[in-house]
Amino acid sequence: MSLAGRHVVITGATGGLGSAFARAFAEAGAHVGLGYFGPVTAAEALAGELQALKVRAVPLAADVTSPDEVRSMFERADAELGPIDVLVNNAGLDGKRAPAWEIALEDWRAPLEVNLFGAFACAREALRRMVPRKAGVIVNVSSVHDVVPWGGHSAYAASKAGLAMLTKTLALEAAEFGVRVLAVAPGAIRTPINEDVWATAEGRRDLQRKIAMGRVGEPAEVADLVVSLAGDAGGYVTGTTVYIDGGLCLYPEFRHGG
Ligand code: BGC
Repeated sequence: MSLAGRHVVITGATGGLGSAFARAFAEAGAHVGLGYFGPVTAAEALAGELQALKVRAVPLAADVTSPDEVRSMFERADAELGPIDVLVNNAGLDGKRAPAWEIALEDWRAPLEVNLFGAFACAREALRRMVPRKAGVIVNVSSVHDVVPWGGHSAYAASKAGLAMLTKTLALEAAEFGVRVLAVAPGAIRTPINEDVWATAEGRRDLQRKIAMGRVGEPAEVADLVVSLAGDAGGYVTGTTVYIDGGLCLYPEFRHGG
């Protein structure tokens, strides 16, 4: 229970991975700020569920692409939760699927704005608080597509590759102040973001070919990793990206030679 009593802010907390992170941190005894965008209903319901675990759980509205909204989200977290110990930069979107020669520039920009700029805006606010206190952890939620090219999703892939270097550079800046910055890179996890793929028999067959372990991952598996990296078990981990993908990055089609 190294996270008991810690203050954790999770962006995108009502999403498929975000809600699993929130549950896992609350189960580890942490108080959680639930960053959300859009209607408050899901965040309120999740907060109610977590409060039953005897931790504080506070919905925090913010569009992470707006620096003003990000600043007020952190001010509310300071006031209602207490000094931030852990930030999980989880808000993200796949974006519109289209090849480069067809996509509109504003559709290309959207994943960059949320996944990279948004993550930086939140990290900056968190570091402004963590560096003076000489403690804290930032976990950026990346993707296997930080190294695996993804047709139709060049903006998403570029945003996640950018997040890898942002992670390393922020980790370098913050290390001497006792603050760790790292990333996790999930593969195909059973969440609404890719439901169109895993919910059909054809999609599942395609995923089985692409994943060495032959199955999609569960949100709770990623959540357990994030909680352990954010806690004392991850105490010497910084600046790196930890892949959790069932072997998606292992070129499964080369399993029996090439
Ligand atoms: C994407 C999912 C996709 C997975 C594996 C993730 O980053 O968000 O939609 O299923 O990568 O390709």
